[in-house]
Amino acid sequence: MSRTHDTPTPRALRCPDCGVTVDDRWRCECGSPLRFADPPVPNGEPPTPGGLDTRPGQWAFEMFCAVGDDPADRVTLGEGMTPLVDADAAETSRGHTPEDPWNAAFKLEYVLPTGSFKDRGATTTLTRAVELGVDRVVEDSSGNAGAAIATYAARAGIDAEVYVPAGVKESKLRAIRRAGATPVRIDGSRADVTDACVATLGSTDADEPDPAWYASHAWNPAFFEGTAAFAYEVAYQRGWDAPDVVVTPLGHGTLFLGAYWGFRRLHQAGWIDTVPRLYGAQAAGIAPVVREKHGAAAADPNGTVNDAADGIQIAEPVQMDEILEAVCETGGDVLAVTEAAGTRELDRLHAAGFYTEPTCAVAPAALRELRERGAIDATDDVVVPLTGSGLKR
Ligand SMILES: [Zn+2]
Repeated sequence: MSRTHDTPTPRALRCPDCGVTVDDRWRCECGSPLRFADPPVPNGEPPTPGGLDTRPGQWAFEMFCAVGDDPADRVTLGEGMTPLVDADAAETSRGHTPEDPWNAAFKLEYVLPTGSFKDRGATTTLTRAVELGVDRVVEDSSGNAGAAIATYAARAGIDAEVYVPAGVKESKLRAIRRAGATPVRIDGSRADVTDACVATLGSTDADEPDPAWYASHAWNPAFFEGTAAFAYEVAYQRGWDAPDVVVTPLGHGTLFLGAYWGFRRLHQAGWIDTVPRLYGAQAAGIAPVVREKHGAAAADPNGTVNDAADGIQIAEPVQMDEILEAVCETGGDVLAVTEAAGTRELDRLHAAGFYTEPTCAVAPAALRELRERGAIDATDDVVVPLTGSGLKR
């Protein structure tokens, strides 16, 4: 299982659009998001189930990870190896026929240290920050990513400023503050929050290193190194048998693209035979990927914004092209979920013992709709991540 490259740390980044290679910057001079130039892909057979030491959590899959080559640099709280459970098992095992079965496996991402899947990206992003010798990071977030970055920055002993919308939930603000990070509340749209954060980074044309380092879940390639571990774990937990379908919430595509790149690397390594069809569930009314692919009516099916799904209300996803590529390459799709459908689904989740937050209900709600449309059938093997905890509301 040796690595194919012995690359010096920290690893270089490359622009997928113009091909330039750089040591580190938050985006390419051409404006595109950067990726790791040579992410590792292991040689040889996958470990047998039980042959992999999963005590380090998602770091058990270090053989695929472009950060943390030196374990001493890793900023970890033991995140990962979240449960993969049968969505319907509790009811069916008692001989009941569930009223609205999901017929899927749920991966319980909400049990991660700060209550959301964002910890997967925070551990790798702060590890990259340590590799680079960064002493101050900034991030902008509607809540969960900010709490994750603040928490892992605390773990790393690195200063963090988190730009948040003025109306952010107090519980999420508290998590940022209690970790010793500085929340910066910004009036205006979610895009205004990003603009205020980016303004602290200085010019992208400057040769000098940026005054603050952008620990962005939307831009930073190190973040996606972490969310890709979702795919490694799903494949491992299923004995290296990839599911047919994965349905995730879709805002910036942090998890959606992490899953895509993770499954692709597993396929490239020969550890799985197929890459699952990836379906992304967006918030009705703020569904730019759906609009791009299916038009305005599909993006706004009932003329109201799904305000319950505040975690994915991203009007301009940074990685739009990559998201569309992932949909196209895997044969998946994107759809907009209304607040009514999401709320119904959240009730079902809570009643079944999955105490999750409203944003993550769009994924199982989307699964239901995709089944009704015939895009996913009863024989398809489906995995749905439940991305955020209800305890943080
Ligand atoms: Zn470029």
